[in-house]
Amino acid sequence: MDCIFCKIARGELASDTVYENNAVRAFRDIHPKAPVHVLVIPKQHIESIAHLETDHNEIISALIYTAKDIAAKIGLKGYKLVFNVGREGGQVIDHLHLHILGGWGEGVEKKAEV
Ligand code: 5GP
Ligand code: ZN
Repeated sequence: MDCIFCKIARGELASDTVYENNAVRAFRDIHPKAPVHVLVIPKQHIESIAHLETDHNEIISALIYTAKDIAAKIGLKGYKLVFNVGREGGQVIDHLHLHILGGWGEGVEKKAEV
């Protein structure tokens, strides 16, 4: 399948990865919309939240817990977690991804290490 995030998930396309395990990969957005902008994706191809099925519970849970851990490691005091769903919801890449947006406050480096 010609999906750019599947390629990033498999490591076939380069990404500024901050965390990876068997189920998910987290990497910095190439066009950041916040001082810290990280995307968390499942390695399995799921198109969007609108395409979720009940056996995706673990994956969704993994995305959210991964986001929480990354935000804590970076030292974000507050942040937004966003799923864009469908074109009218601002989704451009049709592979599920959770946006972590933050770093507006004091003391967070734009390129903070995780
Ligand atoms: P969407 O609008 O689909 O919710 O968000 C897609 C995000 O992926 C955008 O913020 C965009 O900047 C980011 N993006 C698109 N292509 C790439 C890429 O090749 N590498 C990285 N790191 N981010 C990408
Ligand atoms: Zn994909």
